[in-house]
Order: sequence, then structure tokens, then C-alpha cells
Amino acid sequence: MSTSTARQPSSLSQPATTYRAAVVHEFHAPLTVEQVPAAPLEAGQVRVRVEASGLCHTDIHAAHGDWPVKPTPPFVPGHEGVGIVVETAPGVTEVAIGERVAMPWLGYACGTCDHCVSGWETLCLEQQNMGYSIDGGFGEYAVAYGRYVVKVPDGLDPMDAAPLTCAGVTTYKAVKVGGTRSSDLVAVFGVGGLGHLAIQYAAIAGGRVIAVDIHDEKLALARELGAEFTVNAAKEDPIEAIQTLGGADQAIALAVSPRAFEQAYGSLRRGGTLVFVALPADNEVTIPIFETVLNGITIVGSIVGTREDLREVFQLHAAGRTHVIRETRSLDDVNEAIGDVEAGRVAARIVFEF
Ligand code: NAD
Ligand code: ZN
Ligand code: ZN
Repeated sequence: MSTSTARQPSSLSQPATTYRAAVVHEFHAPLTVEQVPAAPLEAGQVRVRVEASGLCHTDIHAAHGDWPVKPTPPFVPGHEGVGIVVETAPGVTEVAIGERVAMPWLGYACGTCDHCVSGWETLCLEQQNMGYSIDGGFGEYAVAYGRYVVKVPDGLDPMDAAPLTCAGVTTYKAVKVGGTRSSDLVAVFGVGGLGHLAIQYAAIAGGRVIAVDIHDEKLALARELGAEFTVNAAKEDPIEAIQTLGGADQAIALAVSPRAFEQAYGSLRRGGTLVFVALPADNEVTIPIFETVLNGITIVGSIVGTREDLREVFQLHAAGRTHVIRETRSLDDVNEAIGDVEAGRVAARIVFEF
């Protein structure tokens, strides 16, 4: 029996020849919202009429050209796009017209390399990334690969599904990679789009959560979402505060600040694990060798999650186990939205509604 409350597609209309999208023409310049041409589909691709699209801090890094591997302007950001399939090319067997899908960062992988066949498709060297190497979800339509979109279960609000498509799957995977078990103390550094979900996945895994941010409102939200302890790193030393509690078994670095990574490292107890997730433009941290060896510390990088991880994230949400905190904006306000995320003025996630 279905108890679906999801919005049904009002039409399966396709774009004529153009559609509206937010485009990066130049790093650090404001995005422009303009008509862009609708590309013909290639084999294996689907066209999606976008309903909701989350603004991840990664989109801001992309628009700034912050990372060693840069996207090539002009491009359309967005890797939390959710919408309805309106067209399928020959060779698409995974999804059908009318179905609601999510278009995550992992837009394409080869499917046959050792990473792909061993459950690590996110490490595939042939991968394409939505909103980075291929145009993403900041538009009325997007083209994706049928094999790499993930179906959104009936009853799941597309406005919730959007943040789950990157912020959700990334932190769900980071908690898995960190190996949280019941009664572990988990320090979550950064309570933004990713962090507000990391708190919930760490708690679902049985962890006791300590949330760290530099804004009191974020810490209030963290407590509402299940954090047992909070630390404002602008006012007190998180290393001292967390060590007083015995030290963290896992620390998850989600703040866009190398200093926060160093504090996350310093907050670990012996045998603890530091999970690198955030990707600040400033690409270096200082970590001591001696203490890492003597204390048996594990440091691990974690990049998004697989399609299967995202399915699990959607199932947890459909079962009422997670709460997505998001506010709705128009794509016309994309530049203001970016400024608000950078200034820490957003409760958790901005979602553009179409
Ligand atoms: P966000 O801006 O929503 O959240 C960042 C949070 O960190 C904010 O709440 C901010 O107040 C807080 N913060 C800033 N400085 C801090 C400090 N010194 N100490 C503690 N907290 C601090 O960003 P987001 O969308 O959650 O993304 C976070 C980072 O994760 C970005 O760098 C993004 O590119 C990266 N990311 C990585 C992956 C991956 O797969 N590894 C996936 C998605 C995003
Ligand atoms: Zn993201
Ligand atoms: Zn591969």
C-alpha cells in the first residue's frame, strides 16, 4: 500500500530549445541566470525536469575555482538536483519517464574498473561530476546518466531529497568510514548543510555527539537534532573541551577551515579516527607525526557516497529517522544565497525551488 504524499509530475513537458539556469562564466564573478541551450541526449542519458536543487558549499568552491582540479567555465553548478525524468535516450533501462530521481555528485563512473566493481565507484578515475565536469542541477532541466541517478522513494518530499543527495549521503558515508559504534563519542566540526545531518547519522549509529561551530544558532540547532554536547570554537578551545570529556573516538571535519581540521585532530582520544570531508581552498593542514604514531590515530578521507549509500539515506528519511533543515529560495537569488552560506547566515541548507 502506498501512503505517498509526494507531488506528482504536473506534466512531462520538455524544454523547447532552451531553459533557465544559473551559469558560472568566470571564477569569483557572480553567476548569471540565463537561457541556455538544451543539449540533445546521448546514449544512456536522461533529461530531468528539476523540482528542487540544494546549494552545497562545494558549488561555491566550484564557482570560485578553489580546488587543484578546476571546472571549465561556462558551467552550471548543482549536485543536489531532484526532479522528474521527462526524456530517456536509447539504452536507459534503470529509470522511466515520470519517475522522480536524484542527480548526485557522482554523475557517471565507468562501471568496470577495480574501484567500480568493489563498491568504491566514488573512486573511479573515469568519473564525471554533476555541476562540475558536467552541467548540474541549477537549472529548470538537467541531463544525467540513467545508471547514476538514484530513484527517490514515493512519499519523500523533493525539497528534503535535495539536501540528502549530497549533504546526506556524504555524512552518512563519513560516519560509516569513521566506524562509529554504540557509545562512541563523535565530534562533528561544522554544523552546516553537511553537519546538521552528520549529527543525526552519528546518533543513529549509536554515537554520543559533540557538535562544534562558531555560531551559537548552529549549536542550538545541533542540540535539537540530538547533539549531547556543543562547543562554540570562537569562544572556547574545542580541543580542551572535548579532551575533558575523554576525547573523541571519531572526529568528522566538515568546517571549511584547516584550523578546524587541526582542532578535530587534537580532540581525538588514543586510537581515534579523523575523517576529512570538507575541502577548504587553503589545502594544507599541520598534523604531528609523533603523536599520530604513538596515539595510533587513523586519518581517512571520505568522498560523497555510492548510489547504494544514497538509497539507504533515502530509506532512513522515509522511515522518519532524519530531519532535513532547509530554506527555500528562487534561483534568481543564487548570488545572495551564496553570500549567505559564506557568512554563516543559513540555518543549514538552502534549496532552490523550481
Ligand atoms: P556549510 O557552509 O553549510 O557549513 C560549514 C559550517 O562550518 C558552517 O556551519 C560554519 O559556521 C562552520 N564553520 C566555519 N568555520 C568553522 C570553524 N573554524 N570551526 C567550526 N565550524 C566552523 O558547508 P557544507 O555545504 O556543509 O560543506 C562543508 C564542506 O564540505 C565544504 O568544503 C564542501 O565543499 C565539503 N564537501 C565535501 C564533500 C565530500 O564528499 N568530501 C561533499 C560535500 C561537501
Ligand atoms: Zn555537495
Ligand atoms: Zn570505474
